[in-house]
Amino acid sequence: MTDDSVTPMMAQYLEIKAQYSDAILFYRMGDFYEMFFDDAVAASEALDIALTKRGFHLGEPIPMCGVPVVAAEGHLLSLIRKGFRVAIAEQMEDPAEAKKRGSKSVVRRDVVRLVTPGTLTEDSLLEARRHNFLCAWAEVRDEGALAWTDISTGELRVMPCARARLAPELARLMPREILVSDASDTPVTSVATDLGAAVTEVARASYDSAGAERRLCALWQVATLDAFGTYGRAELSAMGALVDYLDLTQRGKLPLLRPPVREALGGAMLIDAATRRNLEITSALAGGRAGSLLETVDRTATAGGARLLERRLSAPSRDLNVISGRLDSVDCLLAQSGLRNQLREALRRVPDMDRALSRLALDRGGPRDLAAIRNGLSQAQLIASLVAGVDDGLLTQAAKSLTGNEDIISLLDQSLVEDPPLLARDGGFISAGFDPDLDETRKLRDEGRAVIAGMQADYAAETGVQSLKIKHNNVLGYFIEVTATHAEKMMSAPLNEKFIHRQTTANQVRFTTLPLSELETRILNAGNHALELEKNHFNRLRTAILSAAGPIGFAAAGLAELDVAAAFADLASGEGWTRPRVDASHAFLIEGGRHPVVERALQRQGAAAFVANDCALTARDAPAIWLLTGPNMAGKSTFLRQNALIALLAQSGSFVPAAKAHIGLVSQLFSRVGASDDLARGRSTFMVEMVETAAILNQADDRAFVILDEIGRGTATYDGLSIAWATLEHLHDANRCRALFATHYHEMTSLAQKLPGVENATVSVKEWKGDVIFLHEVRRGAADRSYGVQVAKLAGLPEPVIERAKVVLEALESGDRDGGNRRRTLVDDLPLFRIAPPVSPAPPKESALEERLKSVNPDELTPMAALNLVYELKKAL
Ligand code: ADP
Repeated sequence: MTDDSVTPMMAQYLEIKAQYSDAILFYRMGDFYEMFFDDAVAASEALDIALTKRGFHLGEPIPMCGVPVVAAEGHLLSLIRKGFRVAIAEQMEDPAEAKKRGSKSVVRRDVVRLVTPGTLTEDSLLEARRHNFLCAWAEVRDEGALAWTDISTGELRVMPCARARLAPELARLMPREILVSDASDTPVTSVATDLGAAVTEVARASYDSAGAERRLCALWQVATLDAFGTYGRAELSAMGALVDYLDLTQRGKLPLLRPPVREALGGAMLIDAATRRNLEITSALAGGRAGSLLETVDRTATAGGARLLERRLSAPSRDLNVISGRLDSVDCLLAQSGLRNQLREALRRVPDMDRALSRLALDRGGPRDLAAIRNGLSQAQLIASLVAGVDDGLLTQAAKSLTGNEDIISLLDQSLVEDPPLLARDGGFISAGFDPDLDETRKLRDEGRAVIAGMQADYAAETGVQSLKIKHNNVLGYFIEVTATHAEKMMSAPLNEKFIHRQTTANQVRFTTLPLSELETRILNAGNHALELEKNHFNRLRTAILSAAGPIGFAAAGLAELDVAAAFADLASGEGWTRPRVDASHAFLIEGGRHPVVERALQRQGAAAFVANDCALTARDAPAIWLLTGPNMAGKSTFLRQNALIALLAQSGSFVPAAKAHIGLVSQLFSRVGASDDLARGRSTFMVEMVETAAILNQADDRAFVILDEIGRGTATYDGLSIAWATLEHLHDANRCRALFATHYHEMTSLAQKLPGVENATVSVKEWKGDVIFLHEVRRGAADRSYGVQVAKLAGLPEPVIERAKVVLEALESGDRDGGNRRRTLVDDLPLFRIAPPVSPAPPKESALEERLKSVNPDELTPMAALNLVYELKKAL
């Protein structure tokens, strides 16, 4: 068929596709999801599957590819990871139904779900120990707000958020998808690119705050939102956009969204994106969890606990009561190691109730999700009794949320088998004895033959025909058979009342009875019927669970809380960490501090033990700054970061890797590292460094803790030195904050005499036979020299280069002693660099080719001009 007509199926396809033009359409055809046209081309490339053709559209062959339904999840994940959205169109009726309407009619299909990065719920598509946040940003007049949810756990949060705060908040949440009303006019887009999040533009109507309020009230079935707090227009608008988007992507099946929690501004330590990256808090610079602080300190036993830990480390508290409450609970479990071990053992058997609950709410759950709730809740009860006696506010409060679900536990206990199958449609998950009807039905299905045998014995006794048999064939189904000799008896009263004649053959006569034909239908239908009954039970259990979603959610949150406390206690006990003292002072006193990640790495390599170091920012009045000098590789960066991490851990509620720690509350944490290559983002590295430094100087208050590592190294020496110098002065005079400042500009050490809050410190090294030995010890005072040349030697620079560098260094240093006069004449004075050939002859005259090349400026060349130039140069060879 090559004419221009459109088949009914294609017409349906195109109609659905038109509504989802920004997504790849998975079009269900039997056991496959098929893709057509451009979707097929894009998907076949992204998934590396064969592209074929099927039929014609407007005279052209239609490109097509497909994935089997059973293997769809994996393909879905690949597509989402590659930045696609996928609309899933299912068959909404049995193909037989469509046939009844006429031979040309097409099976009804509809999109049941739009899969996007922020709306995943399947376990296989999610990381168990990480959140999957969907964010919406709204701006109403000058007021901004950010709302976010993890639909796989049902959590919904919102906060006012001005444009300036957007980047750091997004960096904290690391959302997978961000909703905006206008992708071109928002600061979101560039942040999103840095975070690898998808930006989705949604209709302005979704952001309408009045409509949002109505939608939200309807969602939680309340007359006003006041019960959950008072929200500004922008906050309502952001939440409304989220809910609207969920409605759109889940096609009306709203996930279980818990009532919103407003996140207080100023409740958490402020940490911007660059600092998060530098400190490798939840993911390492190399990408991924491995090598991050989170991975190093994570000893949680449950997925929910792991996600809570991620949230804690991403947003350390600024509230002294909260911090000391959390530290108390760690202390309590640290002291009671027996209880802690029992608790952790019990927690290990707690399944992910949050995610099970959300799948059930979206009607995407299965029997295993029911079992997860059952096991989780009964485990919660056991855990509640374990911690019943503890004397700790937070733990007792968490324990209280664990009980009170006895009804649902006993319902699930009675109804569910121990290890149910994944899919409800497979059946076999309702336990025997729960429903007599179901038991009977299953008995019929499984023991059909035995039931028939029983009936045969009954009939033989009743008729007195011992040879009576019940048999089965494909024509008659089940029938009763007697030999011809008994036919007359069977066909006369009273037996003829009951036994209905079906067939007479040469030697046999066949009958049926009403009970037998009923039994037959029941046996045939028993299988289907049993499945049907189980499905009904599934729905009833699901409804029962959903109506207890609130308390189940609390129990899950309580378990996560206990898990994190026990995990921190286990960490403290295993690694010898101590309880920090966090108070309202401006102190920063660390004795024997360690860098948890570097220490772990050294242990793994079997290298020498980590050298613990003190840090004492003790200037009498704030500010207090240490200026740290010392050769490369001495351990300056490690020292800077370990102190920032100690503050972060302390305020997250964890014990810290130090012998002793006293920390005055830190409100903001900043970490900057002198220019490293940031080519990926296409900005000059030095520019990045300066933009980031500017952010600190503009924002840091007197409770900030700042670490600056080799600021200024991205530019010429004098520029760099001046910038570093001025930055330090500004931190001291204007920001008046606590800071650790590492630099290789020795000139700066003289600042310590000028600025009362600045002290010199250095990481000591030992020189031995011309080599340096790194001691990794931080002590007060300035480094006597930089040992750069020795470090270069360690790195394997050729001997002549090292020797030459020593000569240059000496000349430079004596130049310094002369007040810089010598430096100017340095180039003239220094003997020329000599390795064979000892003296280079006068430079040869430049060739024409060289001259030509020198005359071009590559930056100004168009690709075409460059190509022509190559031709020209080749010709001149
Ligand atoms: P710098 O910033 O001075 O160049 P780094 O902090 O990057 O030096 O440290 C270089 C290496 O030295 C680290 O990778 C680590 O292996 C080791 N190191 C640093 N500090 C210590 C320490 N306190 N104890 C043991 N090894 C350390």
